Formats: sequence, C-alpha cells, structure tokens
Amino acid sequence: MIPGGVNSPVRAFRAVGGAPPFVARGEGAEIVDADGRRYLDLVGSWGALLLGHAPQGVVAAVVEALSRGATFGAPTEGEVVFAERLTARLPWIQKVRLCSSGSEATGHAIRLARGVTGRDLIVKFDGCYHGAHDAVLVGAGSGGETFGVPDSAGVPAAVAALTRVVPYNDVAAIEALFAREGDRVAAVIVEPVAGNMGCVAPVDGYLQRLRALCTEHGAGLIFDEVMSGFRAGPRGASGRYGVTGDLTCLGKIVGGGLPLAAFGGRADWMDHLAPLGPVYQAGTLSGNPAAVAAGLATLERLDEATYVRLEAIGEAMEAGLRASLAAAGASMSRVGGMWTIWFRSQPPRNLAEARTCNTTAFSVFFQAALAAGVWLPPSQFEAAFINVALTDAQVAALVDRLTRALAATKAG
Ligand SMILES: *Cc1c(COP(=O)(O)O)cnc(C)c1O
Repeated sequence: MIPGGVNSPVRAFRAVGGAPPFVARGEGAEIVDADGRRYLDLVGSWGALLLGHAPQGVVAAVVEALSRGATFGAPTEGEVVFAERLTARLPWIQKVRLCSSGSEATGHAIRLARGVTGRDLIVKFDGCYHGAHDAVLVGAGSGGETFGVPDSAGVPAAVAALTRVVPYNDVAAIEALFAREGDRVAAVIVEPVAGNMGCVAPVDGYLQRLRALCTEHGAGLIFDEVMSGFRAGPRGASGRYGVTGDLTCLGKIVGGGLPLAAFGGRADWMDHLAPLGPVYQAGTLSGNPAAVAAGLATLERLDEATYVRLEAIGEAMEAGLRASLAAAGASMSRVGGMWTIWFRSQPPRNLAEARTCNTTAFSVFFQAALAAGVWLPPSQFEAAFINVALTDAQVAALVDRLTRALAATKAG
C-alpha cells in the first residue's frame, strides 16, 4: 500500500541493496528491530535525536502536554517560552515563527526573502538539500545522488529556472554569479555545514565571503541549520564559525523528535509576515503543544556538558578508527555531532569530489556494519550522527564493529 514501502525515499536502502529492518523501538543509543535485533544507531532519525531515543525528560514533557490536549490552533504559553529560550540562545534570531518541518521552514524563509527584496532568484549550492519543495529540488544532494536523479519530475521548468545552483566551497563561482546577476538575487540559501552530500565543512572564510557578497548586493542570506543547528555545536554552525544569516532555519534537533521546526532572524524582515505584513505563511499544527514541549525539554538538556560529551565521543571515534580508515583507503570528516566515512583518501570539499567516492565499497561497508549491529545511513551521501546517550562501552563497541566492517570492506 505504501510506494516503495517507505514514507521517505532514502529509507528504502536502494543505494546499498537489501530491505530495511522494521523498527520496533529505541532505547538510548540503540534501536531494536521487529525481529529483536539491536543496533547502535548512528542515524538518529537523520540527525533529529541528539539525546538518543526516548530521553526521560522529553517523554514526560510530551505526555504531560498531550494530557492537556494535542492541538488548539490558538496561541499557547509554551510557544512564547520556546521563542524566548531560542532567541536568548541564538540572539541573531530576533523574531521566530514555528512550523512543523524543515521543508516548511526553508519554503517560508525563501518566500519571505522574495517578499522583502522584491526579487525572484534563489541561489543554492550543488549537493545542499533544503527540503522536498520545488524551489530547492535542484542539485539537491543525497536523495537525488542516491537515485542518480538530480532533479525531480513534476518540478515545473519555470520554477527551476528561478533557482541558480553553484558549487559549494567555491568562492570564484559565487562571485561570478553575483557579478552577473547579483541585483536579481532574493537570497542565497546554504547549509553552513553541508550534511546532505555527506558531511562537508565550509572552507576557511567561505561563509564570511557569502555574508559579504549578500550584504553588498542587497540579497538575503538564509542559513539552513535544520541539520547543523544544535549539532555542529551549542549554537550551531552560526556560533561555530561566527557568521550569521539574515534568516536561519531550524528543525530536527529543535523538536526533540517531534514535528517542530522554525525560521527566524532579523526583526525588520520577520515583520513582513502576515498578519503584520504582506508575506503569507501559516500552518494548522504550527507550534503544536506536544512538539513545543518536546523542543523545550530538549533545549533544557543542551547545556555545555552535553557538547563536551558530544565532542569527546566524536574524538574517540576518530582516534579509534584512524588506522583502519587509512588501511581501507577511506577517510572521515566530522563537525560536532555530524560525520561521514568517505570511501576516498580525503574528505571532499564539494559534490563533484564527493561523487568520486567508491560507492560499491560503501555498500559493502554498510552491510558489514549492519550485520555487526551498527545502524548507518544507507547512502555514501548522507551524514551520520552521534548522540550523547552513547556510553563509553557503546563507543568502544562502535569503534570495534566499524573497524571490523572496514576490514571486511577492504577484503571484499
Ligand atoms: C532535513 C533537512 C531539511 C528538511 O527537513 P524536513 O523536516 O525533512 O522537511 C532541510 N534542510 C536541511 C539542511 C536538512 O538536513
């Protein structure tokens, strides 16, 4: 009854072969499938879970919120508290609006940028993913890479024609685009740490240059931190690199595993949104009380100690895998809690380099890891994620299992 058996395509294991296990439940850092097999989970619902599965405080907050009613379609106190906590933590978000998915957040942010600037063009980067809507389904990374279809059927050519795609981490390319048609650009949208072609960090000075170009040409800069927010560091990629967008999109971690996302930024831009201004944006379940409760309970746990632990886990994995990666001709990139093992001697800087990876080796590695009880993203072009529920013993087990999977890959 379900096309391909999945409700989102990359879940279907097409890139690596086989059929995905069905998940029965999650416990901390582990997933248990319907046959009772346990896996150390390095997907974390595609980055949404920094605290692991079913963290007690988050579950209790959701149950409590639901017991008072699931949704009202009217203002609730939790939304205000959430906005206060979020803007206090990420002060470049002066005003924020909540929605239910990362795709919604980027779609609304793009419309807002167009509404504010009165311009039509959007610039994105090859391999960056910003959700499943028409304006950004051009050169959109993972899903498209995995299936070898760069664009989607059904996206009108007239819509795609308003989106310019340039290579990531290439200063000359974006400078040339602005020189050509900078006065027509409403916004540049970017993953400040790319995660949807695998984890690719920005090269030194790149985000700063994007910021300067947008300011110079009167274009908006949209930081899509749906994945990197609270993942690349305690204040996301913006905090890590000291560069901020006019608008920032958040999702995944911010909702603690429930459908919650947000976009926000400059107050003078956000005030263009209805009912204050002429840019329409809405959602029946936006700011849903249970999702907001999950988000609030999650934010509460994202203190300094959490990120110290995240970094320690990441470093332990890197150190533990270094020798076996080199022996297998592979490499690893990591920014905070997002990372990728590349079947390539050096981590790539852009999609063209990422495409030179040995995807056959990745598939062998993936299956060996799965058989050993490690749940990895089923594509070379998807980032993997660590969570702070991992115990020291589980980190050691991960290193051991991945080391064996790398050896098996090399042998195979
Ligand atoms: C996951 C993701 C999205 C889309 O979010 P959904 O909640 O799946 O709609 C957008 N941008 C980035 C960077 C993402 O990683």
